[in-house]
Amino acid sequence: MHFKNSMITVSKIQDKFGETFNQLTTGILNKNLRVTEFSNSIILFLMSLGLFTCSVEPKADKIYINGNILSGLENGKRLEYIATKDNIILDAGIGDYEHLITSKTKVIDLKNKFVVPGFMDNHTHFMSGGSLLMSIDLHSANSKNQFMKQFNSYTKKINTGEWITGGNWDHENWGGLLPDRNWIDPYTKKNPVLVSRVDGHMALANSVALEISGITKETPDPVGGVIGRDPKTGIPTGILKDNAIRLVSISIPENSEEKKKRILNTAMKHAASVGITQIHDMCSWEDLETFKKNKNDLTLRVYAIPWYTNWEKLIELIDKEGAGDDILRWNGIKGMVDGSLGSRTAWMHHPYLDDRNTSGFLIIDDTLGFKTMMNAIDKNGIQLAVHAIGDRANDWIIDMFEALKKKNGLRDRRTRIEHAQHLTESAIDKIIKSGIIPSMQPYGCIDDTRWMHKRIDHSLMSRSYIFKTFLDNGVNLTFGSDWDVTPLNPLEGIYAAVTRSTLDDSKPEGWFPDQKITVEDAIICYTKNNAYAGFQEDKLGTIEKGKYADFVVLSDDITKIDTENILDTYVLRTVVNAEDIYINSN
Ligand SMILES: [Zn+2]
Repeated sequence: MHFKNSMITVSKIQDKFGETFNQLTTGILNKNLRVTEFSNSIILFLMSLGLFTCSVEPKADKIYINGNILSGLENGKRLEYIATKDNIILDAGIGDYEHLITSKTKVIDLKNKFVVPGFMDNHTHFMSGGSLLMSIDLHSANSKNQFMKQFNSYTKKINTGEWITGGNWDHENWGGLLPDRNWIDPYTKKNPVLVSRVDGHMALANSVALEISGITKETPDPVGGVIGRDPKTGIPTGILKDNAIRLVSISIPENSEEKKKRILNTAMKHAASVGITQIHDMCSWEDLETFKKNKNDLTLRVYAIPWYTNWEKLIELIDKEGAGDDILRWNGIKGMVDGSLGSRTAWMHHPYLDDRNTSGFLIIDDTLGFKTMMNAIDKNGIQLAVHAIGDRANDWIIDMFEALKKKNGLRDRRTRIEHAQHLTESAIDKIIKSGIIPSMQPYGCIDDTRWMHKRIDHSLMSRSYIFKTFLDNGVNLTFGSDWDVTPLNPLEGIYAAVTRSTLDDSKPEGWFPDQKITVEDAIICYTKNNAYAGFQEDKLGTIEKGKYADFVVLSDDITKIDTENILDTYVLRTVVNAEDIYINSN
Protein backbone atom coordinates (compact mmCIF):
# COMPACT_ATOMS: atom_id res chain seq x y z
CA MET A 1 0.00 0.00 0.00
CA HIS A 2 1.49 3.30 -0.96
CA PHE A 3 1.15 6.09 1.42
CA LYS A 4 0.87 9.79 0.73
CA ASN A 5 1.74 12.02 3.60
CA SER A 6 -0.40 14.97 2.65
CA MET A 7 -2.67 15.31 5.63
CA ILE A 8 -0.87 17.56 8.04
CA THR A 9 -0.07 20.16 5.47
CA VAL A 10 -3.64 20.07 4.14
CA SER A 11 -5.08 20.87 7.53
CA LYS A 12 -2.58 23.66 8.08
CA ILE A 13 -3.77 25.33 4.93
CA GLN A 14 -7.37 24.80 5.94
CA ASP A 15 -6.70 26.60 9.17
CA LYS A 16 -5.16 29.52 7.37
CA PHE A 17 -7.52 30.04 4.50
CA GLY A 18 -10.76 28.33 5.35
CA GLU A 19 -12.64 25.62 3.56
CA THR A 20 -13.23 27.34 0.22
CA PHE A 21 -9.65 26.76 -0.82
CA ASN A 22 -9.39 23.27 0.46
CA GLN A 23 -9.69 21.68 -2.98
CA LEU A 24 -6.97 23.80 -4.43
CA THR A 25 -4.53 23.21 -1.65
CA THR A 26 -5.30 19.51 -1.64
CA GLY A 27 -4.55 19.40 -5.33
CA ILE A 28 -1.26 21.16 -4.91
CA LEU A 29 -0.35 18.96 -2.01
CA ASN A 30 -1.09 15.76 -3.84
CA LYS A 31 1.38 16.76 -6.50
CA ASN A 32 4.05 18.22 -4.31
CA LEU A 33 3.35 16.60 -0.97
CA ARG A 34 4.73 19.67 0.68
CA VAL A 35 3.78 23.29 0.95
CA THR A 36 6.58 25.72 1.41
CA GLU A 37 6.40 29.24 2.67
CA PHE A 38 6.94 30.20 -0.97
CA SER A 39 3.84 28.45 -2.28
CA ASN A 40 1.87 29.82 0.65
CA SER A 41 2.68 33.30 -0.51
CA ILE A 42 1.75 32.46 -4.13
CA ILE A 43 -1.66 31.28 -2.91
CA LEU A 44 -2.08 34.45 -0.91
CA PHE A 45 -1.13 36.49 -3.97
CA LEU A 46 -3.58 34.65 -6.26
CA MET A 47 -6.25 35.00 -3.62
CA SER A 48 -5.73 38.74 -3.53
CA LEU A 49 -6.23 38.83 -7.33
CA GLY A 50 -9.51 36.98 -6.88
CA LEU A 51 -8.34 34.17 -9.15
CA PHE A 52 -9.71 31.42 -6.95
CA THR A 53 -13.40 30.77 -6.95
CA CYS A 54 -15.60 28.09 -5.48
CA SER A 55 -15.77 26.40 -8.87
CA VAL A 56 -12.82 24.16 -7.95
CA GLU A 57 -14.86 22.05 -5.56
CA PRO A 58 -13.11 18.90 -4.37
CA LYS A 59 -14.53 15.68 -5.76
CA ALA A 60 -14.49 12.28 -4.15
CA ASP A 61 -12.77 9.20 -5.59
CA LYS A 62 -15.12 7.10 -3.48
CA ILE A 63 -18.18 7.77 -1.43
CA TYR A 64 -19.73 5.43 1.12
CA ILE A 65 -23.41 6.32 1.50
CA ASN A 66 -26.43 5.30 3.63
CA GLY A 67 -24.29 4.50 6.66
CA ASN A 68 -25.03 4.59 10.36
CA ILE A 69 -21.67 6.15 11.10
CA LEU A 70 -20.25 6.75 14.56
CA SER A 71 -17.65 9.43 13.98
CA GLY A 72 -16.08 9.17 17.44
CA LEU A 73 -16.33 12.93 17.81
CA GLU A 74 -17.58 14.41 21.05
CA ASN A 75 -21.05 15.45 19.79
CA GLY A 76 -21.99 11.77 19.32
CA LYS A 77 -23.91 12.61 16.15
CA ARG A 78 -24.32 9.81 13.62
CA LEU A 79 -23.24 10.55 10.07
CA GLU A 80 -24.53 9.11 6.79
CA TYR A 81 -21.70 9.32 4.30
CA ILE A 82 -17.92 9.24 4.05
CA ALA A 83 -16.30 10.70 0.94
CA THR A 84 -12.65 9.95 0.28
CA LYS A 85 -10.00 11.44 -1.96
CA ASP A 86 -6.70 9.62 -2.26
CA ASN A 87 -6.21 8.18 1.22
CA ILE A 88 -7.92 11.00 3.11
CA ILE A 89 -11.49 11.62 4.25
CA LEU A 90 -12.59 14.46 2.00
CA ASP A 91 -15.80 14.92 3.92
CA ALA A 92 -18.08 12.99 6.25
CA GLY A 93 -21.56 14.17 6.95
CA ILE A 94 -25.31 14.00 6.75
CA GLY A 95 -27.68 14.66 3.87
CA ASP A 96 -26.75 15.87 0.43
CA TYR A 97 -23.45 14.68 -1.00
CA GLU A 98 -24.08 15.37 -4.71
CA HIS A 99 -21.59 18.23 -4.70
CA LEU A 100 -18.83 15.76 -3.83
CA ILE A 101 -19.25 13.32 -6.71
CA THR A 102 -18.58 13.15 -10.40
CA SER A 103 -19.32 10.40 -12.92
CA LYS A 104 -15.97 8.89 -11.92
CA THR A 105 -16.73 8.65 -8.21
CA LYS A 106 -17.24 5.12 -6.98
CA VAL A 107 -20.40 4.93 -4.87
CA ILE A 108 -20.65 2.25 -2.19
CA ASP A 109 -24.00 1.66 -0.46
CA LEU A 110 -23.51 0.81 3.23
CA LYS A 111 -27.16 -0.26 3.53
CA ASN A 112 -27.56 1.43 6.91
CA LYS A 113 -24.85 -0.70 8.48
CA PHE A 114 -22.91 0.50 11.51
CA VAL A 115 -19.55 2.15 10.86
CA VAL A 116 -16.83 2.97 13.38
CA PRO A 117 -13.34 4.46 13.06
CA GLY A 118 -10.72 1.79 12.31
CA PHE A 119 -9.90 -0.26 15.40
CA MET A 120 -6.39 0.16 16.75
CA ASP A 121 -4.86 -2.39 19.05
CA ASN A 122 -2.61 -0.95 21.77
CA HIS A 123 -0.53 -4.05 22.30
CA THR A 124 0.11 -6.93 19.94
CA HIS A 125 2.84 -9.48 19.32
CA PHE A 126 1.85 -9.63 15.70
CA MET A 127 4.44 -12.01 14.32
CA SER A 128 3.93 -14.45 17.22
CA GLY A 129 0.20 -14.23 16.58
CA GLY A 130 0.79 -14.99 12.92
CA SER A 131 3.05 -17.96 13.71
CA LEU A 132 0.48 -19.26 16.17
CA LEU A 133 -2.16 -19.20 13.45
CA MET A 134 0.22 -21.38 11.44
CA SER A 135 1.16 -23.61 14.38
CA ILE A 136 -0.28 -25.79 17.14
CA ASP A 137 -3.00 -23.98 19.09
CA LEU A 138 -3.57 -25.47 22.53
CA HIS A 139 -5.78 -22.69 23.80
CA SER A 140 -8.89 -24.80 23.60
CA ALA A 141 -7.36 -27.81 25.36
CA ASN A 142 -9.49 -28.45 28.44
CA SER A 143 -7.83 -31.58 29.79
CA LYS A 144 -4.52 -33.40 29.90
CA ASN A 145 -5.95 -35.90 27.50
CA GLN A 146 -6.92 -33.26 24.95
CA PHE A 147 -3.52 -31.61 25.30
CA MET A 148 -1.80 -34.91 24.49
CA LYS A 149 -4.19 -35.72 21.66
CA GLN A 150 -3.44 -32.43 19.95
CA PHE A 151 0.28 -33.23 19.92
CA ASN A 152 -0.46 -36.66 18.58
CA SER A 153 -2.35 -35.28 15.60
CA TYR A 154 -0.16 -32.21 15.01
CA THR A 155 3.10 -34.15 14.78
CA LYS A 156 1.62 -36.25 11.98
CA LYS A 157 1.47 -33.11 9.79
CA ILE A 158 5.03 -31.87 10.20
CA ASN A 159 8.56 -32.86 9.19
CA THR A 160 11.11 -34.62 11.35
CA GLY A 161 13.30 -32.13 13.20
CA GLU A 162 10.88 -29.23 12.77
CA TRP A 163 10.39 -27.18 15.94
CA ILE A 164 6.92 -27.10 17.47
CA THR A 165 6.23 -23.65 18.89
CA GLY A 166 3.14 -21.57 19.55
CA GLY A 167 0.86 -23.32 22.01
CA ASN A 168 -1.07 -20.81 24.13
CA TRP A 169 -2.07 -23.46 26.64
CA ASP A 170 -3.73 -22.52 29.89
CA HIS A 171 -3.41 -24.99 32.78
CA GLU A 172 -6.28 -23.18 34.52
CA ASN A 173 -8.49 -24.86 31.90
CA TRP A 174 -7.97 -28.23 33.58
CA GLY A 175 -7.77 -27.19 37.22
CA GLY A 176 -4.24 -25.80 37.48
CA LEU A 177 -1.95 -28.84 37.15
CA LEU A 178 1.11 -27.79 35.15
CA PRO A 179 1.85 -29.85 32.05
CA ASP A 180 4.97 -31.96 32.04
CA ARG A 181 7.36 -33.04 29.27
CA ASN A 182 6.21 -36.62 29.91
CA TRP A 183 2.78 -35.67 28.57
CA ILE A 184 4.20 -34.94 25.13
CA ASP A 185 7.46 -36.88 24.85
CA PRO A 186 5.78 -40.01 23.44
CA TYR A 187 4.53 -38.05 20.39
CA THR A 188 7.48 -35.73 19.92
CA LYS A 189 10.53 -37.96 19.81
CA LYS A 190 11.60 -36.43 16.49
CA ASN A 191 10.63 -32.81 17.10
CA PRO A 192 11.89 -30.29 19.64
CA VAL A 193 9.00 -28.51 21.41
CA LEU A 194 8.72 -25.15 23.12
CA VAL A 195 5.07 -24.21 23.59
CA SER A 196 4.10 -21.17 25.65
CA ARG A 197 1.46 -20.65 28.25
CA VAL A 198 -1.20 -18.22 27.06
CA ASP A 199 0.49 -15.30 28.86
CA GLY A 200 3.95 -16.06 27.48
CA HIS A 201 5.47 -16.18 30.98
CA MET A 202 5.75 -19.96 31.12
CA ALA A 203 6.56 -22.51 28.49
CA LEU A 204 6.76 -26.27 28.20
CA ALA A 205 9.75 -27.87 26.52
CA ASN A 206 9.97 -31.55 25.64
CA SER A 207 12.98 -33.74 26.34
CA VAL A 208 14.41 -33.23 22.83
CA ALA A 209 14.40 -29.44 23.29
CA LEU A 210 15.92 -29.64 26.77
CA GLU A 211 18.68 -31.83 25.41
CA ILE A 212 19.42 -29.53 22.47
CA SER A 213 19.62 -26.61 24.91
CA GLY A 214 21.81 -28.51 27.36
CA ILE A 215 19.40 -28.15 30.27
CA THR A 216 19.95 -30.78 32.94
CA LYS A 217 19.43 -31.28 36.65
CA GLU A 218 22.65 -29.32 37.20
CA THR A 219 21.60 -26.20 35.24
CA PRO A 220 21.04 -23.35 37.71
CA ASP A 221 17.98 -21.08 37.43
CA PRO A 222 18.84 -17.93 35.48
CA VAL A 223 18.27 -14.50 37.05
CA GLY A 224 14.58 -13.62 36.65
CA GLY A 225 13.62 -17.15 35.67
CA VAL A 226 12.82 -20.59 37.04
CA ILE A 227 13.43 -24.06 35.67
CA GLY A 228 10.57 -26.28 36.83
CA ARG A 229 11.91 -29.38 38.60
CA ASP A 230 10.62 -32.57 40.09
CA PRO A 231 10.58 -31.85 43.84
CA LYS A 232 12.10 -35.26 44.64
CA THR A 233 14.71 -35.77 41.94
CA GLY A 234 15.40 -32.17 40.84
CA ILE A 235 15.11 -33.29 37.21
CA PRO A 236 13.65 -30.56 34.95
CA THR A 237 9.95 -31.14 34.20
CA GLY A 238 10.01 -29.15 30.98
CA ILE A 239 8.31 -26.13 32.56
CA LEU A 240 10.29 -22.91 32.15
CA LYS A 241 9.30 -19.59 33.68
CA ASP A 242 10.14 -16.12 32.36
CA ASN A 243 13.90 -15.71 31.73
CA ALA A 244 14.37 -19.49 31.79
CA ILE A 245 12.37 -19.73 28.55
CA ARG A 246 15.26 -18.05 26.76
CA LEU A 247 17.56 -20.96 27.61
CA VAL A 248 15.61 -22.97 25.05
CA SER A 249 14.20 -20.34 22.72
CA ILE A 250 17.72 -19.29 21.63
CA SER A 251 18.11 -22.71 20.04
CA ILE A 252 15.12 -22.22 17.73
CA PRO A 253 16.45 -21.49 14.24
CA GLU A 254 15.39 -18.23 12.65
CA ASN A 255 12.60 -18.38 10.08
CA SER A 256 13.50 -17.78 6.43
CA GLU A 257 12.50 -14.42 4.89
CA GLU A 258 9.89 -16.25 2.87
CA LYS A 259 8.37 -17.87 5.97
CA LYS A 260 8.35 -14.52 7.81
CA LYS A 261 6.48 -12.99 4.92
CA ARG A 262 3.93 -15.80 5.07
CA ILE A 263 3.53 -15.31 8.82
CA LEU A 264 3.05 -11.55 8.36
CA ASN A 265 0.49 -12.06 5.63
CA THR A 266 -1.41 -14.62 7.70
CA ALA A 267 -1.52 -12.19 10.64
CA MET A 268 -2.57 -9.24 8.45
CA LYS A 269 -5.36 -11.24 6.88
CA HIS A 270 -6.68 -12.17 10.30
CA ALA A 271 -6.36 -8.57 11.55
CA ALA A 272 -8.27 -7.21 8.57
CA SER A 273 -11.07 -9.71 9.16
CA VAL A 274 -11.62 -8.35 12.68
CA GLY A 275 -11.41 -4.68 11.72
CA ILE A 276 -7.91 -3.83 12.91
CA THR A 277 -6.43 -0.92 10.95
CA GLN A 278 -3.44 -0.23 13.16
CA ILE A 279 -1.38 -2.15 15.68
CA HIS A 280 0.97 -0.90 18.36
CA ASP A 281 3.27 -3.87 18.09
CA MET A 282 5.52 -4.95 20.93
CA CYS A 283 8.04 -6.52 18.64
CA SER A 284 11.54 -7.86 18.33
CA TRP A 285 14.16 -6.14 16.21
CA GLU A 286 13.82 -8.92 13.71
CA ASP A 287 10.07 -8.25 13.48
CA LEU A 288 10.74 -4.56 12.83
CA GLU A 289 13.09 -5.56 10.02
CA THR A 290 10.40 -7.83 8.60
CA PHE A 291 7.89 -4.95 8.64
CA LYS A 292 10.42 -2.70 6.91
CA LYS A 293 11.20 -5.25 4.22
CA ASN A 294 7.52 -5.80 3.52
CA LYS A 295 6.44 -2.20 3.96
CA ASN A 296 4.87 -1.85 0.54
CA ASP A 297 2.67 -4.86 1.24
CA LEU A 298 1.44 -3.77 4.66
CA THR A 299 -2.35 -3.68 4.73
CA LEU A 300 -2.53 -2.05 8.14
CA ARG A 301 -0.61 0.65 9.98
CA VAL A 302 2.14 -0.56 12.27
CA TYR A 303 3.53 1.38 15.18
CA ALA A 304 6.49 -0.82 16.05
CA ILE A 305 7.67 -0.70 19.67
CA PRO A 306 10.75 -2.91 19.84
CA TRP A 307 12.09 -4.69 22.93
CA TYR A 308 14.27 -2.49 25.12
CA THR A 309 17.57 -4.29 24.65
CA ASN A 310 17.54 -2.75 21.16
CA TRP A 311 17.45 0.80 22.48
CA GLU A 312 20.83 1.88 21.12
CA LYS A 313 20.02 0.44 17.71
CA LEU A 314 16.70 2.29 17.71
CA ILE A 315 18.26 5.66 18.53
CA GLU A 316 20.79 5.07 15.75
CA LEU A 317 18.07 4.10 13.28
CA ILE A 318 16.01 7.19 14.09
CA ASP A 319 19.12 9.38 13.72
CA LYS A 320 19.77 7.89 10.32
CA GLU A 321 16.30 7.38 8.84
CA GLY A 322 13.85 9.21 11.05
CA ALA A 323 11.08 7.33 12.83
CA GLY A 324 9.13 6.11 9.80
CA ASP A 325 5.77 7.34 8.61
CA ASP A 326 2.09 6.74 9.29
CA ILE A 327 2.14 3.30 7.70
CA LEU A 328 5.18 2.04 9.57
CA ARG A 329 6.68 3.91 12.50
CA TRP A 330 9.20 2.98 15.18
CA ASN A 331 9.28 5.65 17.85
CA GLY A 332 8.78 3.62 20.99
CA ILE A 333 10.58 1.16 23.24
CA LYS A 334 8.95 -1.67 25.16
CA GLY A 335 10.27 -2.44 28.64
CA MET A 336 9.13 -4.96 31.21
CA VAL A 337 9.10 -4.84 34.99
CA ASP A 338 7.55 -8.15 35.99
CA GLY A 339 5.83 -11.33 34.84
CA SER A 340 2.17 -12.32 34.95
CA LEU A 341 -0.54 -13.16 37.46
CA GLY A 342 -1.22 -16.56 35.89
CA SER A 343 2.39 -17.60 36.38
CA ARG A 344 2.60 -15.94 39.83
CA THR A 345 5.51 -13.90 38.54
CA ALA A 346 3.72 -10.52 38.66
CA TRP A 347 5.54 -8.46 41.28
CA MET A 348 3.24 -7.84 44.24
CA HIS A 349 3.44 -6.02 47.55
CA HIS A 350 2.08 -9.12 49.28
CA PRO A 351 2.66 -12.87 48.82
CA TYR A 352 0.26 -14.81 46.60
CA LEU A 353 -2.63 -16.31 48.52
CA ASP A 354 -2.07 -19.68 46.86
CA ASP A 355 1.72 -19.64 47.25
CA ARG A 356 2.85 -17.74 50.32
CA ASN A 357 6.49 -18.31 49.39
CA THR A 358 6.39 -15.83 46.56
CA SER A 359 5.14 -12.37 45.76
CA GLY A 360 6.51 -12.48 42.24
CA PHE A 361 9.67 -10.65 41.27
CA LEU A 362 11.28 -7.81 39.42
CA ILE A 363 12.19 -9.37 36.12
CA ILE A 364 14.90 -6.84 35.21
CA ASP A 365 18.30 -8.34 35.95
CA ASP A 366 20.19 -5.06 35.55
CA THR A 367 18.16 -2.22 37.06
CA LEU A 368 20.96 0.29 36.60
CA GLY A 369 21.18 -0.55 32.91
CA PHE A 370 17.39 -0.34 32.63
CA LYS A 371 17.41 3.16 34.12
CA THR A 372 20.18 4.23 31.77
CA MET A 373 18.12 2.91 28.86
CA MET A 374 14.97 4.73 30.00
CA ASN A 375 16.84 7.97 30.45
CA ALA A 376 18.50 7.82 27.02
CA ILE A 377 15.24 6.87 25.31
CA ASP A 378 13.39 9.68 27.05
CA LYS A 379 16.05 12.24 26.21
CA ASN A 380 15.77 11.26 22.55
CA GLY A 381 12.03 11.95 22.55
CA ILE A 382 11.16 8.28 22.10
CA GLN A 383 8.05 6.89 23.79
CA LEU A 384 8.38 4.43 26.67
CA ALA A 385 5.86 1.60 26.97
CA VAL A 386 6.62 -0.57 29.98
CA HIS A 387 4.89 -3.76 31.06
CA ALA A 388 3.76 -3.79 34.70
CA ILE A 389 1.13 -6.16 36.08
CA GLY A 390 1.65 -6.53 39.84
CA ASP A 391 0.84 -3.63 42.19
CA ARG A 392 4.46 -3.34 43.27
CA ALA A 393 5.66 -3.38 39.65
CA ASN A 394 3.23 -0.57 38.80
CA ASP A 395 4.39 1.54 41.76
CA TRP A 396 7.98 0.94 40.68
CA ILE A 397 7.53 2.05 37.09
CA ILE A 398 5.37 5.06 38.02
CA ASP A 399 8.20 6.26 40.29
CA MET A 400 10.65 5.73 37.42
CA PHE A 401 8.49 7.80 35.09
CA GLU A 402 8.19 10.56 37.69
CA ALA A 403 11.97 10.53 38.13
CA LEU A 404 12.44 10.95 34.37
CA LYS A 405 10.17 13.96 34.42
CA LYS A 406 12.25 15.53 37.16
CA LYS A 407 15.51 14.70 35.44
CA ASN A 408 14.73 15.60 31.84
CA GLY A 409 12.07 18.26 32.36
CA LEU A 410 8.44 18.52 31.33
CA ARG A 411 7.43 17.55 27.81
CA ASP A 412 4.62 15.73 26.05
CA ARG A 413 5.97 12.20 26.62
CA ARG A 414 2.80 10.07 26.92
CA THR A 415 4.61 7.33 28.77
CA ARG A 416 2.59 4.13 28.86
CA ILE A 417 2.15 1.32 31.31
CA GLU A 418 1.37 -1.85 29.42
CA HIS A 419 -1.37 -3.77 31.29
CA ALA A 420 -1.50 -1.60 34.49
CA GLN A 421 -3.44 -4.54 35.85
CA HIS A 422 -3.32 -4.44 39.66
CA LEU A 423 -2.90 -1.05 41.26
CA THR A 424 -2.44 0.51 44.67
CA GLU A 425 -4.62 3.50 45.58
CA SER A 426 -1.63 5.76 45.17
CA ALA A 427 -0.79 4.33 41.73
CA ILE A 428 -4.34 5.08 40.55
CA ASP A 429 -4.02 8.58 41.88
CA LYS A 430 -0.64 9.16 40.25
CA ILE A 431 -1.80 7.81 36.88
CA ILE A 432 -4.79 10.18 36.97
CA LYS A 433 -2.64 13.18 37.86
CA SER A 434 0.43 12.52 35.74
CA GLY A 435 -1.08 11.72 32.35
CA ILE A 436 0.52 8.27 32.18
CA ILE A 437 -1.40 6.16 29.67
CA PRO A 438 -2.76 2.85 30.98
CA SER A 439 -2.53 0.50 28.01
CA MET A 440 -4.99 -2.20 29.05
CA GLN A 441 -6.44 -5.38 27.57
CA PRO A 442 -10.05 -5.81 28.62
CA TYR A 443 -10.36 -9.49 27.70
CA GLY A 444 -8.33 -10.31 30.82
CA CYS A 445 -11.15 -9.07 33.02
CA ILE A 446 -13.39 -11.90 31.85
CA ASP A 447 -10.60 -14.47 31.57
CA ASP A 448 -8.08 -14.15 34.47
CA THR A 449 -10.93 -13.28 36.80
CA ARG A 450 -12.13 -16.88 36.73
CA TRP A 451 -9.28 -17.74 39.11
CA MET A 452 -7.93 -14.37 40.27
CA HIS A 453 -9.46 -14.79 43.76
CA LYS A 454 -7.12 -17.76 44.28
CA ARG A 455 -4.10 -15.48 43.88
CA ILE A 456 -4.97 -12.07 45.37
CA ASP A 457 -7.35 -10.62 47.94
CA HIS A 458 -10.62 -8.77 47.47
CA SER A 459 -9.15 -5.37 48.09
CA LEU A 460 -6.54 -5.70 45.34
CA MET A 461 -9.10 -7.27 42.99
CA SER A 462 -11.22 -4.14 43.40
CA ARG A 463 -8.26 -2.19 42.02
CA SER A 464 -7.73 -4.52 39.07
CA TYR A 465 -8.82 -3.87 35.50
CA ILE A 466 -10.27 -0.54 36.53
CA PHE A 467 -11.79 1.10 33.47
CA LYS A 468 -14.59 3.33 34.72
CA THR A 469 -12.46 5.04 37.36
CA PHE A 470 -9.92 5.99 34.71
CA LEU A 471 -12.48 7.26 32.21
CA ASP A 472 -14.39 9.21 34.88
CA ASN A 473 -11.16 10.95 35.75
CA GLY A 474 -10.20 11.90 32.22
CA VAL A 475 -7.43 9.34 31.80
CA ASN A 476 -6.58 8.40 28.20
CA LEU A 477 -7.39 4.73 28.72
CA THR A 478 -6.49 2.57 25.73
CA PHE A 479 -7.51 -0.94 24.76
CA GLY A 480 -5.99 -3.81 22.84
CA SER A 481 -5.50 -7.53 22.99
CA ASP A 482 -1.89 -8.47 23.75
CA TRP A 483 -2.53 -10.92 20.91
CA ASP A 484 -1.67 -13.79 20.95
CA VAL A 485 -2.27 -13.71 24.72
CA THR A 486 -5.95 -12.96 24.15
CA PRO A 487 -7.99 -12.97 20.91
CA LEU A 488 -7.22 -10.14 18.49
CA ASN A 489 -10.89 -9.41 17.80
CA PRO A 490 -11.74 -5.98 19.30
CA LEU A 491 -15.41 -6.95 19.51
CA GLU A 492 -14.44 -9.54 22.13
CA GLY A 493 -12.54 -6.84 24.02
CA ILE A 494 -15.49 -4.46 23.82
CA TYR A 495 -17.80 -7.22 25.05
CA ALA A 496 -15.43 -7.84 27.97
CA ALA A 497 -15.20 -4.15 28.90
CA VAL A 498 -18.95 -3.56 28.89
CA THR A 499 -20.13 -6.82 30.50
CA ARG A 500 -17.14 -7.86 32.65
CA SER A 501 -18.93 -11.19 32.63
CA THR A 502 -16.39 -13.93 33.37
CA LEU A 503 -15.89 -16.65 30.75
CA ASP A 504 -17.07 -19.33 33.18
CA ASP A 505 -20.38 -17.45 33.66
CA SER A 506 -19.79 -17.22 37.40
CA LYS A 507 -20.40 -13.46 37.38
CA PRO A 508 -23.21 -12.79 34.90
CA GLU A 509 -23.83 -9.34 36.40
CA GLY A 510 -20.16 -8.54 35.91
CA TRP A 511 -16.95 -8.91 37.87
CA PHE A 512 -16.72 -5.72 39.95
CA PRO A 513 -19.60 -4.37 37.87
CA ASP A 514 -19.08 -0.75 38.94
CA GLN A 515 -16.10 -0.74 36.56
CA LYS A 516 -18.25 -1.56 33.50
CA ILE A 517 -18.17 1.07 30.77
CA THR A 518 -20.45 1.88 27.82
CA VAL A 519 -20.02 0.46 24.33
CA GLU A 520 -19.32 3.95 22.96
CA ASP A 521 -16.57 4.47 25.53
CA ALA A 522 -15.06 1.06 24.78
CA ILE A 523 -14.98 1.96 21.08
CA ILE A 524 -13.23 5.25 21.95
CA CYS A 525 -10.61 3.28 23.91
CA TYR A 526 -9.97 1.19 20.77
CA THR A 527 -9.84 4.17 18.39
CA LYS A 528 -9.43 7.79 19.42
CA ASN A 529 -7.54 7.06 22.63
CA ASN A 530 -5.13 4.76 20.84
CA ALA A 531 -4.53 7.47 18.24
CA TYR A 532 -3.59 9.80 21.08
CA ALA A 533 -1.38 7.16 22.69
CA GLY A 534 0.51 6.95 19.39
CA PHE A 535 0.75 10.75 18.94
CA GLN A 536 -1.60 10.53 15.94
CA GLU A 537 -4.74 12.22 17.23
CA ASP A 538 -4.61 14.73 14.34
CA LYS A 539 -4.59 11.97 11.75
CA LEU A 540 -6.46 8.96 13.08
CA GLY A 541 -9.04 7.77 15.58
CA THR A 542 -12.19 9.52 14.39
CA ILE A 543 -14.13 9.76 11.15
CA GLU A 544 -13.77 13.38 10.12
CA LYS A 545 -12.61 15.55 7.28
CA GLY A 546 -8.86 15.59 6.81
CA LYS A 547 -8.09 12.35 8.61
CA TYR A 548 -6.93 9.13 7.02
CA ALA A 549 -9.80 7.09 5.59
CA ASP A 550 -9.58 4.17 8.04
CA PHE A 551 -12.89 2.69 9.16
CA VAL A 552 -14.80 -0.51 9.76
CA VAL A 553 -18.31 -1.58 8.77
CA LEU A 554 -19.99 -3.94 11.25
CA SER A 555 -22.94 -6.30 10.85
CA ASP A 556 -24.82 -4.69 13.76
CA ASP A 557 -25.01 -1.46 15.69
CA ILE A 558 -23.34 -2.71 18.86
CA THR A 559 -24.49 0.37 20.78
CA LYS A 560 -28.11 -0.68 20.25
CA ILE A 561 -28.16 -4.47 20.66
CA ASP A 562 -28.10 -6.52 23.87
CA THR A 563 -24.54 -6.69 25.11
CA GLU A 564 -24.39 -10.49 24.92
CA ASN A 565 -25.05 -10.23 21.18
CA ILE A 566 -21.88 -8.21 20.62
CA LEU A 567 -20.06 -11.53 20.25
CA ASP A 568 -22.31 -12.46 17.30
CA THR A 569 -21.44 -9.23 15.52
CA TYR A 570 -18.85 -9.43 12.76
CA VAL A 571 -16.91 -7.23 10.38
CA LEU A 572 -18.37 -6.66 6.92
CA ARG A 573 -15.69 -4.37 5.56
CA THR A 574 -12.35 -2.98 6.72
CA VAL A 575 -10.97 0.13 5.05
CA VAL A 576 -7.40 1.44 5.43
CA ASN A 577 -6.22 4.48 3.48
CA ALA A 578 -9.54 4.41 1.57
CA GLU A 579 -8.78 0.90 0.32
CA ASP A 580 -10.89 -2.14 1.18
CA ILE A 581 -8.50 -4.53 2.86
CA TYR A 582 -11.28 -6.90 3.84
CA ILE A 583 -14.76 -7.56 2.56
CA ASN A 584 -16.93 -10.26 4.09
CA SER A 585 -18.11 -12.23 1.11
CA ASN A 586 -20.91 -14.13 2.90
ZN1 LIG B 1 2.51 -8.37 25.64
